[in-house]
Amino acid sequence: MKTGSLTLEELVEAFGALGGEADWGDIRNQIAVARQHSIKPYKTKVSYEGSLLQLLYQRCDGFRKYKGDAKFEKVGDSRYRLLDFDVQSRVSREAKPPELGNLEDVVRRSRERNEFKRNPELVVRIKTMYGSQCQLCGTTLLLPSGEIYAEAHHVCGLGDRGPDDLSNMLCVCPNCHALLDLKAIQIERATLKVIAGHALGQKFLDHHNALFQKNWSAKS
Ligand SMILES: [Zn+2]
Repeated sequence: MKTGSLTLEELVEAFGALGGEADWGDIRNQIAVARQHSIKPYKTKVSYEGSLLQLLYQRCDGFRKYKGDAKFEKVGDSRYRLLDFDVQSRVSREAKPPELGNLEDVVRRSRERNEFKRNPELVVRIKTMYGSQCQLCGTTLLLPSGEIYAEAHHVCGLGDRGPDDLSNMLCVCPNCHALLDLKAIQIERATLKVIAGHALGQKFLDHHNALFQKNWSAKS
């Protein structure tokens, strides 16, 4: 059982136990369990909670007061990520193919993490560049109104530190988008439609394809 004042190590440990990224409520709970719900040596719950939050904020990317090396970043509404979380353990965690019942969750979480940070102007721009035609399968989804529906995909997700930049974005149809979010298809440069002037980063495609290999190659 943990005792004494709250420490940064304790916070990092809690992130690690939760897979490197979690909602604040889960992190608090993780630490509370490790301390068997004792708030000692703090006198009140308020000072305990305040100290915990301070540990996070002092090291959280994007908080104005903080000046040193960031250890965490905010990735959603009250959701945080440990920045230097051991890549190896993250990859091995991601290496498990998503369980069947959780596929929608995988897609939803991936979208939510990106939604939080992305620049809507770039979303419009990438769709305009391709006339809303899917770069993977060539589909243009025509609606009764005459409009064409397409979606923008970040090849390396913003939640995974991918840049919000056209070099990391694709214009895709909803089907291909789901398969990409699940890392269930490779992005083949040879068949991918890329117009002149769209400087798509090969390293992002490589990152995606590496995850595809890890997630699914053992399954087929
Ligand atoms: Zn498509």
